[in-house]
Amino acid sequence: NPNKILEYRIMPYGEEHLLLIVRDVTRLSQLEAMRKDFVANVSHELRTPLTVISGYLELMTGVDTTDPMVSKAVTEMEAQSKRMKNLVEDLLVLSRIEASAERIYERVVNMPEVLRQIETEAQTLNKEKGHTIRFHIEPDLRVYGIETELRSACSNLIFNAIHYTPANGAIDVYWKRVHNGVKFSVVDNGCGIEQAHISRLTERFYRVDKGRSRSTGGSGLGLSIVKHVLSHHNSKLEIKSKLGQGSEFSFRLAEEIIAENNKS
Ligand code: ADP
Repeated sequence: NPNKILEYRIMPYGEEHLLLIVRDVTRLSQLEAMRKDFVANVSHELRTPLTVISGYLELMTGVDTTDPMVSKAVTEMEAQSKRMKNLVEDLLVLSRIEASAERIYERVVNMPEVLRQIETEAQTLNKEKGHTIRFHIEPDLRVYGIETELRSACSNLIFNAIHYTPANGAIDVYWKRVHNGVKFSVVDNGCGIEQAHISRLTERFYRVDKGRSRSTGGSGLGLSIVKHVLSHHNSKLEIKSKLGQGSEFSFRLAEEIIAENNKS
């Protein structure tokens, strides 16, 4: 049946035999496709009413009122509607990456430039925290890939380091050639993560400390986005962390993904 989706697995069986396991995942794939469609549609539909609500709320924060209850309520509603907008945006980004059939070898991404742009945004975001953020970027090191996706992965990792490092910390961002390709990493001396949580961090909405994370305004989808972007680029997120000492979030791209200088 050509409509069936089958999954194969080959395993050793005793000394001389191999075991072939065939699994019919047709129904599972259909359900997964429905879930993706549903999330994409809901996020899209929520966008318009949310934009209207937050637009009016923004207007109302400027209105003179003598009732402190009212101004407090409006400020809080505005903050929450912003959070909801971020959440919906991140859900849309995630759905887009999941549905993307774009091929990664068609375009060259000027990563040093992308990272310089993220650096400017990071320094703005860093005003309150006062970290020392250093970017160590190998010039001319471009790769094949999808710019919006790589930008989103790198900025999520950098902004997380800023959020989860207590004020006046140190953050180092690297983009460099390594022996078998290129490596991006963000090293912080922030709060760190307990080992037990690490393998679950890329799950949607997974957070180590729900209360504290929520106050940072994140959607809980950042690392999930990173994971999908990296799998699209044949890579995966590596996390090293020590509680109370800091973390390193990194990924490697294979040698063949590096674009030569003269191509663009
Ligand atoms: P969000 O930051 O919106 O909560 P993410 O998916 O980006 O969602 O991150 C998931 C969780 O991983 C965070 O809630 C936080 O607990 C943890 N985390 C991410 N980056 C760091 C970091 N640099 N240091 C410590 N914890 C981190």
